[in-house]
Amino acid sequence: TYESSIPFSEMKKNNDGLLPVVVQDYKTKEVLMVAYMNEEAYNMTVETGKMTYYSRSRSKLWIKGETSGHFQYVKSLTVDCDKDTLLAKVRQIGPACHTGSPTCFFEETYKKPYDDINPLTVLDEVFQVIIDRKEHPKEGSYTNYLFDKGIDKILKKCGEEAAEIIIAAKNPDSSELKYEISDFLYHMMVLMAECGLDWKDIIKELAHRR
Ligand code: AMP
Ligand code: ZN
Ligand code: ZN
Ligand code: ZN
Repeated sequence: TYESSIPFSEMKKNNDGLLPVVVQDYKTKEVLMVAYMNEEAYNMTVETGKMTYYSRSRSKLWIKGETSGHFQYVKSLTVDCDKDTLLAKVRQIGPACHTGSPTCFFEETYKKPYDDINPLTVLDEVFQVIIDRKEHPKEGSYTNYLFDKGIDKILKKCGEEAAEIIIAAKNPDSSELKYEISDFLYHMMVLMAECGLDWKDIIKELAHRR
């Protein structure tokens, strides 16, 4: 874990001495709400572990959940590039919104008809299925067949799929390459699961190298 070296006093508050806080569920990544902190709220949050804001309507400190029981336990606080906004990752108890909605952002006001798939989400979803198979083996599952055969079989498949990528890449039609890279990534993820690595470990390592 990282300990922040930037004190609240060095963050860029608005004219009311407040800093907007984007609040995100640390597990689901859902954006839950936006609220404001003053220095006291920030310090209280760090000291108590419970997200504490400054309520602009009530002009006082506000421990989120103090009346509803829908507390938010802080996981991390991250200041943005120009130090004028905080991102709080939290463990949310119950719904974040006082309307009972899981998130305050449920009223869509505009939408484009794009239906793009987030590549990282898909990779993570496939990985989660692989982990689930490892923990709860399923009859007839190819993933469980690989886990049962063990590391040598998994490594052999990774090698084979890598070789198939090389062969497919010589084909001017890139659709075969698409299949082989997919096969390779799947077997790689089985290998990751077998060796106790997850995408976070890989992403972190790649990010460090930039
Ligand atoms: P709570 O902090 O959940 O006990 O809620 C106390 C009061 O804070 C509620 O009655 C609302 O007025 C307000 N409140 C709670 N949650 C939110 C939210 N997500 N956004 C704005 N106001 C909220
Ligand atoms: Zn900013
Ligand atoms: Zn709300
Ligand atoms: Zn293949």
